[in-house]
Amino acid sequence: MKIMINGINANLRFSSAHIIPTHDSCGYIHGHSYFVDAEIEGEPSGSFDFIVDFKDVKKSILEVCKEFDHRILIPIFNNEIKFKSNTDEKIDLGFFKNREYIEFSIEEKEYKIPKIDAFLLPLKHSSAEELAKYFTKKLIEDISSKGNISSIAIGVNEGIGQGAFFKTDL
Ligand SMILES: [Zn+2]
Repeated sequence: MKIMINGINANLRFSSAHIIPTHDSCGYIHGHSYFVDAEIEGEPSGSFDFIVDFKDVKKSILEVCKEFDHRILIPIFNNEIKFKSNTDEKIDLGFFKNREYIEFSIEEKEYKIPKIDAFLLPLKHSSAEELAKYFTKKLIEDISSKGNISSIAIGVNEGIGQGAFFKTDL
């Protein structure tokens, strides 16, 4: 059995900018009005015979949507994004901790973005595929102990008509 949550109707949405470095058309800063769908498979259990409470699933997804909303998503482990650094310090989330600006280049283009305008992703790409995995990882942490769940699937849609779905068995 499964529960399904439709991100448009359940208001699991965010609007963000991103860039897919070196891609023909997506290599320029652009944005999407994203929405996030979820499908959770399992067996009803507990006092209400739920697979999992809709409320818990929506809360987890919405927390990430709020972090991403109205920000530019920057994947810090992308091989094409060269972050400006005066040291040979490793690039990880800690590297940006006390910085006000995110400075980087992609081939000949140079960028300087206030950190407050950005959300730094510990990922290689800000593609719908990677974002779907990111949401799934958080959802597993938040709900895997709350019911008899056998799989979690998350769809991150870049507007209506195209999205990436990631499914993982628990
Ligand atoms: Zn895009």
